[in-house]
Amino acid sequence: MTFVITQSCCNDSSCVAVCPVQCIRPLPGEAGFTAAEQLYIDPATCIDCGACAEECPVDAIVHDAELPAHLKEFRSINADYFAEHPLEDAAPRPLVRRRLPRGRPRLQVAVVGSGPAALYAAGELSEMRGVEVTIVEKLTAPYGLVRFGVAPDHEPTRRIAQRFAPILQRPNVTCLFGVEVGKDIGIEELRRHHHAVIWAAGAFGDRSLGIAGENLEGSVSARDFVAWYNGHPDAAGFRFDLSGRRVVVIGNGNVALDIARLLAQPVTSLDHTPIAPRALQALRESAIEEVVVAARRGPASAAYGTGELLALSHLPGVDLLAHDGEISVAEHELRAASRPSRDLWRRLDVVRKAATRTPEEPRRITLRYRLAPAALTGDTAVTGILFDRPDGTTERIDTALVIRAVGFRGRPVTGLPFDPATGTIPNRAGRIVAPTSGEPLRGLYCTGWIRRGPAGAIGVNRADAAETITSLLDDFASGHLPAPETLPLPRPLSPPGGGG
Ligand code: SF4
Repeated sequence: MTFVITQSCCNDSSCVAVCPVQCIRPLPGEAGFTAAEQLYIDPATCIDCGACAEECPVDAIVHDAELPAHLKEFRSINADYFAEHPLEDAAPRPLVRRRLPRGRPRLQVAVVGSGPAALYAAGELSEMRGVEVTIVEKLTAPYGLVRFGVAPDHEPTRRIAQRFAPILQRPNVTCLFGVEVGKDIGIEELRRHHHAVIWAAGAFGDRSLGIAGENLEGSVSARDFVAWYNGHPDAAGFRFDLSGRRVVVIGNGNVALDIARLLAQPVTSLDHTPIAPRALQALRESAIEEVVVAARRGPASAAYGTGELLALSHLPGVDLLAHDGEISVAEHELRAASRPSRDLWRRLDVVRKAATRTPEEPRRITLRYRLAPAALTGDTAVTGILFDRPDGTTERIDTALVIRAVGFRGRPVTGLPFDPATGTIPNRAGRIVAPTSGEPLRGLYCTGWIRRGPAGAIGVNRADAAETITSLLDDFASGHLPAPETLPLPRPLSPPGGGG
């Protein structure tokens, strides 16, 4: 018997630290960790102690005897990982506790943002004696993407907010909610009050398609759509037309699948979720029968997790469909690859089954591949989308709503350098550097999406924050951080209550 890591894994790695036989992979810092869909337990080494399941913040770890039917495939998903990455170095890892150097003054750090990247950083810093942390958040509610990015029906993933909540209550943590850096307070002012500022406010732009008609009414960014159904205050006035029978979602990642699932599944399955009431009402009145998920490349290149795709195939009242011709190309490519992974074969298998299914249910999600968006049609509002196909032909799909889920992108921050090519803040191990000289800008750090780009599960931010904090502590220990000039900051506000 063994424990099994399932779909809602957030890659936080809390389980890794408590496993007595170290049989959970990949490890933070290992190649492939940042891009890993999830973590895996080696069934041959696991001693069935249950420590990891106790520690998991999103309840993603289940005993294999208790796996519900829709998660049973995760038994082989976990085992397959170790068939391709045999466990060679299973040994207890020492728990590393950080300490400030003796005789130094209290370390004062401002953390901008209150999403996962910010709270992993704030949590790690505030665990240490002699550290004071100020969290500065422009919204009046904490948790960033956990609250406003994770789909409302992914309740286990949203539960990670419960892991973060105690950090906001620590006596050495001050929370400034409703304070926008760059508007209510400048970076320089924050810097004067602290030894260091960590920018951890995420990536708030969207990648564009760069095609005609992208700005027509009915062409919507996934960011706006997700903000709408999650009740983000900036999306309070948004309205989306769900009166057509078909929606096209452009993208090949988890966000595209989240949106397809939300639009297609029976609305009753959202009744007891934290979805925004007006979005729930709009979905109740929706006339949508088909959600087309259109990807530029094939299923083997998809950025979504296989678990998320599997979940679509289990949705009640929804047929998952695909086009046979688009799958055979992917099969051919996989056979030609030198070492195609079992995970890719499993993913292809889901799509292959979708291609042979006869529609029976009232709604359907249709997976389409190798369609390059060419133009959105319509005078003032979208009436359809044109795709270029690999054989040189063009295909038109009629729709009044196109949701563009082709990725997020960092935006420049006033007072900090920015690399427009990557959409990130230039940095070395979390130290923000001048773009031309590459020299660290004293006292300025970054972590999360704005540091590494918008990719990776929530828990990847933990390893990211740990590296940034190591740099910051090294700089503090070596006397490179100037002492704060003035204390304290105005307007300390209590963190608002509420979970994810
Ligand atoms: Fe490790 Fe125990 Fe979890 Fe098995 S059940 S993976 S031995 S912590």
